[in-house]
Amino acid sequence: MDQKLEIIKQNVVECTKCDLCKTRTNSVPGKGNFHSDVIFVGEAPGKNEDEKGEPFIGIAGKKLSIVLEEAGISREEVYITNIVKCRPPKNRVPTATERETCQDYLKQEISIIKPKIICILGNTAFNSLLGGSEIIKFRGKLVRKDNQLYFLTVHPAATIYNQELIKVLRDDIVKLFELITELKNNKDIQIDIDYTS
Ligand code: SF4
Repeated sequence: MDQKLEIIKQNVVECTKCDLCKTRTNSVPGKGNFHSDVIFVGEAPGKNEDEKGEPFIGIAGKKLSIVLEEAGISREEVYITNIVKCRPPKNRVPTATERETCQDYLKQEISIIKPKIICILGNTAFNSLLGGSEIIKFRGKLVRKDNQLYFLTVHPAATIYNQELIKVLRDDIVKLFELITELKNNKDIQIDIDYTS
């Protein structure tokens, strides 16, 4: 792992900056390929992640792995993290204060990895990173803000009991990697929502 990411990981593991440190079993730092073209950002660790200290290893994580594999991408090729790095009790949505307190770790991850696209998974990440809501209305769209591209899709957890959403996630992940390929080939791509223009 990159040395700077290793330092972030260690800081996350030891972090006591917000009250979630009191109820967690383990902090859950981001994990994956630090040369990745994409960072996936979810909401927060769940029960399995809290027990093992790794992101997206429960049912939602398996859903994500499956759609990645279907798109020809392995988990090891990408970087996966969350808005907050410790599990909120009973999987409640992290509060604004918790998100704000934790955001510096994500900013550091982004500044080291410098992804071509940040893939936002679900409403909490959408709201935290772009101030948005109702991601289902915007999923599949490419957003530019402050010279960073973001791609919007549903959280894999939302697909567990909803077969229509698994198709949505599958289609979006395919589109995401098509966009990345076009970016790598220096092709012009369509920005759906541009906060900089
Ligand atoms: S959620 Fe983030 S800020 Fe809060 S204790 Fe965990 S790592 Fe620290």
